Parts: sequence; C-alpha cells; structure tokens
Amino acid sequence: MKVNYAGAVPLSTLDWRGKAVITIFFRGCPLRCPYCQNHPYLQGWESVELDFVKEQIKKSKPFVSAVVFSGGEPLMQDAIVPLAEFAKEMGLAIGIHTNGCYPEMARQLVKQKLIDKFFIDIKAPPDDPELYGKVTGCGQSEAVKKTSEQITASVIETLEIVNSCVLELELRTTLIRDFIGSRDEIASIAAWISEHIKNREVTYVLQQGIPEYSLQENLREIRALKRKELYELGGIAKSFLGNVRIRTKEGGEEIISDSR
Ligand code: SF4
Repeated sequence: MKVNYAGAVPLSTLDWRGKAVITIFFRGCPLRCPYCQNHPYLQGWESVELDFVKEQIKKSKPFVSAVVFSGGEPLMQDAIVPLAEFAKEMGLAIGIHTNGCYPEMARQLVKQKLIDKFFIDIKAPPDDPELYGKVTGCGQSEAVKKTSEQITASVIETLEIVNSCVLELELRTTLIRDFIGSRDEIASIAAWISEHIKNREVTYVLQQGIPEYSLQENLREIRALKRKELYELGGIAKSFLGNVRIRTKEGGEEIISDSR
C-alpha cells in the first residue's frame, strides 16, 4: 500500500500536550481554508511505501510515547489503518489531527480501538454552514467538492462518534482577525460544544492564526491577533466550558482561568 506522504517530525513536544511524539504528515486535504498554513501539503502526490512510514515510526520509538497523524488530512487515506495498527503493536499511543470530514474512517478507527486522542477542528459554529463554508474555502476553490452543508454534517457526525466514547478530545479553532473569531462567533462555537459534547474533559483551544503564511494571498497582510485579544476571547469561551486554552506565538499554551 502507498502513502501520500508529506514528511515527519521525529520528535515533537508540541503536537500532543504532555507527550513526546513522532508526528507524521499526510499529503492532501478536501478543504482549502484560506488561512491554511500547511498549504504545501494540500495537493500533489508524493507516494512512499507503507513500510517507509513504518520505518520512521520505528526509528522514533525509543524517544516517544505516541504517534500523531496530521496533515493535510490523515483520515482521507486508507493507509491510516495499517499505520495505526503498527503503532499500537509497538505500544505507542495514537493521536489524530483531523478536520472532521471523514466520519466513516473515524468510526472504523474507534471501533478497532486504534485511537487514544482526537484533535478536531471546529472552524466555525457547526450550526452555521454558510460561515463554515467561507472558513473552509467552500465555493472559492474547485478543490472543495463538498457543499458547506455536507462539510458541517460530516464534522457533526465525527463529533458524535467521538462523543459516544471515552477518548481524550481536544477541539480547536484557528482565529484570524476580521475573518473568523469575533466575540459572537467564539460564543456560538463554545455554546455549541457545551450543548452537544458530553465529554466534560474536552479541552477547547483557541489558536492564533498567522496570516502571513496563509494559503490565500489577500489574508497575508492581516495583523495576527495578539495574545491579549485571544485571552479575552478565551474568557468568552470559558463562560460556557470548563477547559479552555489559548495557543499563541508569544505565550505558548495558556489555560484560561475561571473568572466566574
Ligand atoms: S487548515 Fe484547512 S486546508 Fe489546511 S490542512 Fe487544515 S483543513 Fe486542510
């Protein structure tokens, strides 16, 4: 079996809080978020043998306790299954960074007990397909084949699958000034999570988008939100949810404390 492979970070402490991991990047994604910073991974085909990727995992094994599959979108490739099986056999925990567009694959991996933690993007309020479509490049790029309604339906289905089991879960939203992440939008996302996700341990992370690296050129001049601004937005999310964090270049990852 071949893998459309974009590379690996053999030892990372940034991709799974509290763990040293190897991160494997898959090439390809069904979305075209205008702020995407991994856009070199979005298209093309750089195929490697499954065994090559397994070898990367094997080499990192003495130094890590987990593997994170990221991208691009890892769940769009069937190779994720044998790779997750291999990592499990090696005694490694498995985390998946996903945009939530592949509920069937998420269901299969959960059923086979091949996942320990999901990191799922909630790019906009799931009950607002129009906004979700704008944030995922729907209708702007021919590469996005799904409608915004189909995208939100897939994301919600993925969240329902993860919600029905006791896996660790991190939900994350990337914020770009005047594009996504207004006070009202953050309140809507946090309210949606609070209403629909029964896993009370869920962590919600607001990530500082870095516009200068955006896929879409017209976003590159935008000023990144400052740490203080994210902290304030985190406070809004915190009024709905127990575990809220922000992730910024200036401050790394910070917990939003309880001001209620
Ligand atoms: S930011 Fe969007 S386009 Fe980029 S890899 Fe993630 S889901 Fe795909």
